[in-house]
This record gives sequence, structure tokens and C-alpha cells, in this order.
Amino acid sequence: MGGQAFLIGGGIGSLTAAAFIVRDGGMPGSSIAILEAAPLMGGSLDGAGDAERGYSLRGGRMLTTDNYECTWDLYKSIPSLQHAGKSVFEETVEFNERHEANSMARLVDRRRARVPVTSMGFSMQDRMELLKLTNADEDALGSSAITDLLSPSFFETEFWFMWATTFAFQPWHSAVEFKRYLHRFMLEFSRIETLAGVKRTVFNQYDSLVLPLQAWLVAQGVRLITDCRVTDMDHKTVDGQFIVTALRCTRQGQSEMMTVDDGDLVFMQNGSMTDASSLGSMTSAPPALTKTDSNGWTLWETLAQGRPEFGNPAAFNSCIAQSCWESFTVTLKNPGFFDAMQRFSGNEAGTGGLVTFKDSNWLMSIVLAHQPHFANQPADVQVLWGYGLLPDRIGDFVAKPMADCNGAEILQELCGHLRFDLDTVRSANCIPCRMPYITSMFMPRALADRPLPVPRGSKNFAFISQFVEIPGDVVFTVEYSVRAAQTAVYQLLGLTRPIPPITPHDQSLRTQFEALIKSFK
Ligand SMILES: Cc1cc2nc3c(=O)[nH]c(=O)nc-3n(C[C@H](O)[C@H](O)[C@H](O)COP(=O)(O)OP(=O)(O)OC[C@H]3O[C@@H](n4cnc5c(N)ncnc54)[C@H](O)[C@@H]3O)c2cc1C
Repeated sequence: MGGQAFLIGGGIGSLTAAAFIVRDGGMPGSSIAILEAAPLMGGSLDGAGDAERGYSLRGGRMLTTDNYECTWDLYKSIPSLQHAGKSVFEETVEFNERHEANSMARLVDRRRARVPVTSMGFSMQDRMELLKLTNADEDALGSSAITDLLSPSFFETEFWFMWATTFAFQPWHSAVEFKRYLHRFMLEFSRIETLAGVKRTVFNQYDSLVLPLQAWLVAQGVRLITDCRVTDMDHKTVDGQFIVTALRCTRQGQSEMMTVDDGDLVFMQNGSMTDASSLGSMTSAPPALTKTDSNGWTLWETLAQGRPEFGNPAAFNSCIAQSCWESFTVTLKNPGFFDAMQRFSGNEAGTGGLVTFKDSNWLMSIVLAHQPHFANQPADVQVLWGYGLLPDRIGDFVAKPMADCNGAEILQELCGHLRFDLDTVRSANCIPCRMPYITSMFMPRALADRPLPVPRGSKNFAFISQFVEIPGDVVFTVEYSVRAAQTAVYQLLGLTRPIPPITPHDQSLRTQFEALIKSFK
């Protein structure tokens, strides 16, 4: 196959698209260029720092092997960097066999008691409403919010606290998306309290997913170009078909034009959940950036003007108050916190998954991953990650909104909920991270607000992101970006290899699920 491929954005969507183009499309890697505005590839799947400066992660990811069909389809072909002779898929499966998730302290209440979660807390009305939402037609739900379908009491149930904090839903988010989660992750419904279905990578996802893929792409000759923001596209319309003819970039501060010839392809990452994210420190809160600081949405906004088939970015990026939350990464050089947490939760690090302080004003959760969590992490250092889904609220132990807190204040709030002595976080480095668009993909939206991976009438141009429409699949997942990549690549290259279908757990489990909801108290 001749021609070149340009991929705008270097998130996992573009990286996997490049790999599909090489592996399944047979194009030489040297014909592919990935253009990323940031200094590193990986996009939202970041992981940075060291024991001295402190580590930071915007996110920690839960994966499953019962879903994530496209992700594992690719990672079965990508060699691990840690385990010679194994693929990343094999390495991940073996790691999870050794470290099975079995949370014993999923929810903690205001008395610091572990909440028994054998009951989901449903009333009869909650059960009926949930069943109705599960069975609702997406067209009928339209752009409604979850609160349009479920009564206030539902948001007090143990089920809501577990489901919402596992997947980062808010009551005002899209009912369609919530419904899709119930179907896609139906297997998790009966094990949400132990998180037994959750799979983790060996290290953080930058080390365990991005770096091996990047190494494989480089070995194929793919050009990874950082510090390169695509600011505009030249295009023409021939016989009603949209054709990109050039990319306008700012590369290391210099303007540059890349010509897109006949037969070349362009893939663009439209929108990012970590756009305009910012880091704080032990002594400063993260600055409150918006899209005007980042220009991250501009290209999609420009292209979508007057082209309804390219979607409607305003549906996702117009209300930071509804899409913002904050995470934090803590680097510890004193085992006191991990030891106390293990005694309290009954879980060794790496087996517990999320611990959520369900009554906390910030709706705070923490995760103690298996250590080391970074490939370069010394044995006497521990790293934990946490988040607050309601950072605009005053804390319970710090009289400030989380958004205004520095790392030291976040540690004070965390130790307050756990009734841990502050000595357990002695010499800790807590780096907060504000993410104004982190749940922008969950905003209520109409079907037409998201373009198809290959929009109608496009000849050489596709979108790959969390903001495209893939029937039946769920956003806020690595899988969604990879499925978008595989779909866009296969369609533009005319490949006939089947894309792994979404596993229909909901169909095989449907009767059991309905019985389960009816039986849960
Ligand atoms: C806190 C957090 C928790 C998460 N938890 C989970 C989880 O538990 N399970 C799970 O599966 N997923 C989870 N995710 C989601 C997952 O990480 C994302 O869905 C995925 O990484 C998105 O990848 P992407 O390639 O689509 O976009 P991104 O990673 O956002 O990449 C887009 C890239 O494009 C670049 N870009 C944009 N415009 C331009 C331009 N004009 N020119 C050049 N470059 C441009 C951006 O700089 C960015 O690097 C989580 C994410 C976060 C942040």
C-alpha cells in the first residue's frame, strides 16, 4: 500500500492506529508520522517523575480482559519491555493472575467504618427505574441526564457510590452513556464491591502500555514528532468528498506546512480529556486553566464549523463546572502510610483497588497499586494515586475547596478521613492535578454531536478519540480510543480483517442481570 499517513495527536488512539496501519495494513512504518503538540507521546496515559522530584500520574487505569477486545488484539502483537519473549498482553494476564483484585474496603463512611456492601441499597423504586433505564432506547434518551431518569434516592445507594466512583460518573452526566456502561460492564455489576473483574498493568500505563508500543513503532520506522501542534488544514471538495491537502503546524515554535498528496491519509485526535490539565505541588494548588490556555479544542472547533458531520465540540467543552475533577499522586519514602492502610483495609497494595470515602465532601478515593508502580521506582519508595470527584467543595478536614489546596493540604484531608497520624505521610510529596475536561466525554449529548470515525463524505480523513461515535461502546476507556483507531484505519485502508466485536455479555447475562437487580436490596 503506497502513500503516507499523518496522525495528529500522540495519544494511545494515534499510537495504536499507527500500529494497525503497519501490522494489518502492511504500510511501511517510515510512511507514517505522528504529530504531537506535547513534548512526549502518550497523551492522557502519562506517568512521569522520579523518587527525588516526586512521581505524577494524571490517571490510573482499570482494564478488563472480559472487554477491551481491540486493545488486547493489538497488544498480543506488542513485545513487553520487561519480560523478554512475552507480549504485553501475556505479561498483563500473568501479572493479574499473581495479584488478584479482591477489595475488602471499597467504601469507607464518615465514622471510618468499612461499609458492608453485600447490599446495594436499592429501594423497589430504584430497581424499577434502573431496569427502565437499562432497557431504554438511546434515541428516546437523547441528550437527557442521569437525573432525568433516576430519583434522588438512587444517588444515595451503595451501588451509586461504587459505580460512580469506579467509572467517574456524576448525576448530571449523560443517561445514554450511563446506560451503555450498565450493558458493556454488566459482568462487573455483581462484583463491583470487590472489583474482582478489574485488571491492572504491571506498572503505570505510560511504562506498561505507551513505552512498549512506542518502542515497537520506532523499530518499524514510524516517525514520532513531538512539540508539533497542527493548527489548521488545507482541504478541497471533489465530487462532494472532503479531502485534506495540507497540514499547517507549529513545530518547535516554527510554522511549517506538510503537504498531503493524493493517496495520503490523515487521522486526527479531536479533543482530549486531559486538555488544559495542570499540576500543583506540596506548596501550590494547580493553576485553573481553560481551553483558551491550551488551544486543545481549536482545530476540531474550526473544522466542525458549518460541517455537522464533523460533530459539535461545544456539547463537551462548554461547562468546566460539570466536567472537572482533580487527581493527586503521592510519593512516600516512609512505609508508615502503606502499612497503616494495609492494616485498615485488609488488602495488600495492588489487591484492593479503590477505597472511596463515600461521605467525604470532595468524594475522595485512593488506589494503592502494586509496588513498584514506576519502572524506575526504588524499592524503599511507595507511590499512591487518588482523586476527588467534587473538587469545588470545602473539605471535611481542610476548610478549602480541593481546587484551592496544595499537596500538603490534600494529605491532611486524606489522613483526616483515615484518622491516620500525619506522621504516616512524613516527607511525602503530593502532586495535585486539575483536569477541567476530565469527564467532558460524559456530558449529555445528542447522537450527532460526535462524528463517526470516518465522517460521511470524507475521502482521506478520520477522527480517532473519545469524541467519536462507536455504537455500543463506552468512553473514558483506553478501549474506546483503540476501537476508534482500528475502525478508522480499517475503513480508510479498506481492510477486511474483522474488528473484534464488542463481547455481548449483556445478552448472555441479561436474564440474570434483571433478576439480580430485582433481588438486590
Ligand atoms: C484520571 C484518568 C483516569 C482514567 N481511568 C481509566 C480507566 O480506569 N480505564 C480506562 O480504560 N481508561 C481510563 N482513562 C481513560 C484513558 O486514559 C483515555 O481514554 C485514553 O488515554 C485517551 O486516549 P486518546 O489517545 O484518545 O486521547 P489523549 O490521550 O487525550 O491524546 C490526545 C493527544 O492529542 C494531542 N493533540 C490534540 N490536538 C492536537 C493538535 N492539534 N496537534 C498536535 N497534537 C494534538 C494532545 O496533546 C494529546 O496528547 C482514564 C484517564 C484519566 C485521565
